[in-house]
Amino acid sequence: MINDTIVDGLTGTDPPAFLEFPETPYLLLDPKVAAAQYKRLAEAFQQTQVFYAVKANPEPEIIRRLAEAGSSFDVASTVEIDICLSQGADPETLSYGNTIKKAKDIRYAYQRGVRMFVFDSEGELQKLAENAPGASVFCRILASSEGAQWPLSRKFGCTPEMAADLLAKAPSLGLNPIGVSFHVGSQQLDPTRWDPSIADAAWVFRKVAESGISLNFLDVGGGFPVSYLEPVAPIEEFARAIHGSVERHFGELAPQLAVEPGRYISAEAGVLRSEVVLVSRKSSTDTQRWVYLDIGRFGGLAETEGEAIRYRIVTPHDGQASGPVALAGPTCDSVDVMYQKTPYDLPLALKPGDYVEILNTGAYTTTYSSVGFNGFAPLATFCIGDNA
Ligand SMILES: *Cc1c(COP(=O)(O)O)cnc(C)c1O
Repeated sequence: MINDTIVDGLTGTDPPAFLEFPETPYLLLDPKVAAAQYKRLAEAFQQTQVFYAVKANPEPEIIRRLAEAGSSFDVASTVEIDICLSQGADPETLSYGNTIKKAKDIRYAYQRGVRMFVFDSEGELQKLAENAPGASVFCRILASSEGAQWPLSRKFGCTPEMAADLLAKAPSLGLNPIGVSFHVGSQQLDPTRWDPSIADAAWVFRKVAESGISLNFLDVGGGFPVSYLEPVAPIEEFARAIHGSVERHFGELAPQLAVEPGRYISAEAGVLRSEVVLVSRKSSTDTQRWVYLDIGRFGGLAETEGEAIRYRIVTPHDGQASGPVALAGPTCDSVDVMYQKTPYDLPLALKPGDYVEILNTGAYTTTYSSVGFNGFAPLATFCIGDNA
């Protein structure tokens, strides 16, 4: 594991050579870890098509290794399509999983050989009919995000009733309706939260069958969690719960199962390295210190919004006396605070110039960093080669 390698490296006096990069902050990425995560998930789920959600981390080396390992891809834009195709992915393995697409982007995807598209509204279905004739389409249904640390809103999905109507209508528009998808919210900690949506999907399958259309594609989305401050249940437990629900609600007519993991594949492949810029107190009697890092909400740690994702932080003084801190970023924006309520405890010896490592940060960091707010550069990525 890249995280272990780096933490081990820090316990010695000389960090490993690959840590000697010039200027923080940066993400150290080990694409081999993403491929290993893919294999573990694919094995846990068995006979399930795995679409990596490219937005979690579109680093070409991750995409190349996943394509080699047999992964499919969930893409949301023409740029993500181009990245996947340029790294050897077959267009047949791409699913255009964004429910909000421009007509010209649908045409572009279709020209490049993409044949799977999602929709969640009549308007989008019409667009697909006009710009991707004959394509396979599936409908995203609303799902509850209860239990998820990074919930999704009602922005995506429609009711099961509307999904059934639209899917039944698809053949008359020259499209091939294949099934249903949903997403139970990212960093979903509760393996049983997929069950209500799988029940809804089974209802849609039965309803559409009344019109003589048989669906067979069930995409249960992403959401599979990784350990940040708190440990999470292993992926095998999520696979067991989901397979159990599918058997219960679909019975004999088991559909082809698909998943769209993002975070689970790439988070553990990355470690962020950052420098302490300032340690201060708001009064001479305050016990809580403020620790300002050279990375913050705008530099890649966007998921600390609402203190939703609580990263584990490693310092060179771990194990020594420590005390409570608030953690903030370097910009002049007052929302650039990562943790003020979550009790973080860091060593008293921590000082400006120290490097800290923020673990499991390979997902939703580089792609969330601003292009240069306040003059701070976008988050850089360095990939670790085969021999590291
Ligand atoms: C972002 C996204 C995912 C990945 O979600 P994770 O919680 O990172 O696994 C899957 N499917 C769709 C449609 C997405 O937009």
